[in-house]
Amino acid sequence: MTRITLVQGDITEQQVDAVVNAANSSLLGGGGVDGAIHRRGGPEILADCRRLRASRYGKGLPTGQAVATTAGRLPARWVIHTVGPVYRPEVDNSALLASCYRESLRVADGLGAETVAFPAVSAGIYGWPVEDAARIALTAVAESGAAVAEARFVLFGAETFEIFREVMVAQG
Ligand code: ADP
Repeated sequence: MTRITLVQGDITEQQVDAVVNAANSSLLGGGGVDGAIHRRGGPEILADCRRLRASRYGKGLPTGQAVATTAGRLPARWVIHTVGPVYRPEVDNSALLASCYRESLRVADGLGAETVAFPAVSAGIYGWPVEDAARIALTAVAESGAAVAEARFVLFGAETFEIFREVMVAQG
C-alpha cells in the first residue's frame, strides 16, 4: 500500500525517484511548478519533451494522462508530466483530476519508482479551489492500488499545506 506523506516545500529539491510535473498539454514548459522544474532540471527535460511531441504526442499530452522523461539535473531520476484540467465551476472535471494521480502512479510503477513527489495539480494557474483539489488528490492516491511505497505531496506555501493536512485528517 502506498504511504501518503505531506511536506511544505519546493518539489524540485525532493530526494525522490520521480517528481510529478503539473504540465500543460504542449509539454513545452509553462509557469508555476512546470517552470520551476524545467529551470532547475535544465534543458535535457525539454529535449525529452520535444521528442515526445515529435513521436507519441503530436497533438500534445491529453488532460488526465501522464508520461515520463528524464529529470535532468534534479535529484530525482524521472519527471512524470501530467496535465490537470482547468477549473470551470460549471463543469465537473474531478474525474480528470483524479486520473492525473492514477496515471502518474501507473507510470511510476512501470518505471519501478518507489518514492514519488506530487504538487497540487491544477490548484495554481489552472484555478482549482485547493480544498477540493486536495480531496480529489488524496482520495485518488489512497485508492490507486499502486506499488509505489511513498507518495509525497509537496505543497508550496503554508496555506496550501495546511488545507491538505486538514483534508487528510478529515479523510482519516
Ligand atoms: P496548474 O497549472 O496545474 O494549476 P501550477 O504550477 O500553476 O499548476 O500550480 C500547481 C501547484 O503547484 C500550486 O499549488 C503552486 O503553488 C504549486 N507550486 C508552484 N511552484 C512549486 C514548486 N517549486 N514546488 C511545489 N509546488 C509548487
